[in-house]
Amino acid sequence: MTIYHDEVFQMACDQFQVIADYLNIEKNDRDRLMYPKRSVAVTLPVHMDDGSTNTYQGYRVQHHLTLGPTKGGTRFAPTLSMGETAALAMWMSWKCALANLPYGGAKGGIACDPSKLSRRELEAVSRRYMQEMIPFVGPHTDIMGPDMGTNEQVMAWFMDTYSMYTGYTVNEIVTGKPVSIGGTEGRREATGRGVVYLIDRAMDILKMNPEKCTAIVQGFGNVGSVAALALAMKSGVKVTGISDATVALYNPDGIDIVAADRHVLKKGNLRAFTEADRVDPNEMLEMKCDILVPSAVDRVINEKNAEKLQCRILAEGANGPTTPEADLLLNKRFGEVFVIPDILCNAGGVIVSYFEWVQGLQSFLWTESEVTDKLFRILEHSFVQVIKRAKDHKVSHRTAAMAIGVERVMKAKHARGLFP
Ligand code: GLU
Repeated sequence: MTIYHDEVFQMACDQFQVIADYLNIEKNDRDRLMYPKRSVAVTLPVHMDDGSTNTYQGYRVQHHLTLGPTKGGTRFAPTLSMGETAALAMWMSWKCALANLPYGGAKGGIACDPSKLSRRELEAVSRRYMQEMIPFVGPHTDIMGPDMGTNEQVMAWFMDTYSMYTGYTVNEIVTGKPVSIGGTEGRREATGRGVVYLIDRAMDILKMNPEKCTAIVQGFGNVGSVAALALAMKSGVKVTGISDATVALYNPDGIDIVAADRHVLKKGNLRAFTEADRVDPNEMLEMKCDILVPSAVDRVINEKNAEKLQCRILAEGANGPTTPEADLLLNKRFGEVFVIPDILCNAGGVIVSYFEWVQGLQSFLWTESEVTDKLFRILEHSFVQVIKRAKDHKVSHRTAAMAIGVERVMKAKHARGLFP
């Protein structure tokens, strides 16, 4: 048993072993590729508004240092553990390598519920986390970004805390910042836009007419809300189901996503949005639709529901939404369900984070349309490679995508030697 002992880490390892078998990777190389290079756990004492002091656990996992600095988001979630953080870091490695970004994967975060913290408490916990991480991160070592439970404001506090320590502004230490302090136009929308770019490509290949298609989107955060909006407003797809942590909503005639988005901006969640029927959140995933977009938490597509999915396209906006057991069942339905695997589907976020990092290092500025154009070009290249590999080798899209990523990391490790 290792410090990473956790169900999600086990899932990431199981997925990796499938790829390692397919690529015939030797045992020694497997362990080197799989286990994180470096992991940090910190305790964060914070003064609360009521005068008490709370302590929070924080983590950062740097999965490999072979291709450049590590890169990945920061998650604030009540159940976050070292093992889950390590799994998310491993997925970031394959995601960055598939997109050909010069990074190893990383992930970090704090076991806390940000919705229960006041703004002052959230600032205190965020700044304390970055303070503790200063010895381990840097623009050429490890660059943080946003993830579940964090946003542009949290990134701004990270950047400020790091910069106060160095004595000058280091905006390339963090991506996903507000545009006013070196953030990149279009970063916030990047993941959701990327998801929909790839859905459009899949509809194209499958000769589906978007105007006749319906979509169900699980999660209405930074990924799900932008994806739902783009599906409805740009692709012309009817979005019949949406959900967040508070409620799942369904309307066969289509939900007004602009109104839902406005509602969430005002109220913080979908709970009181009444323009659709409430449904069971798990059953929503099994309802009939053409496109299913899980964009919330991991392991929601599992052995219980994989055979029951009624979608034609499964577009994984979340990290790790599909378990290896579900993959086996979905592989049997290869011609029926077109999977756009997470490390391809949600790569838009980290790709635009890469642009933001380069902009910071070079003091460049790009317009939103330049950013989106470059983003779509990288996604297109990855998409074509994945589809071709899957077809040529008769493997699933996930196997093809992960294999391309793992091969790139392995090649670099072999070229460099044993250390990184
Ligand atoms: N959290 C995002 C992901 O899971 C990206 C983080 C980043 O931009 O570094 O891909």
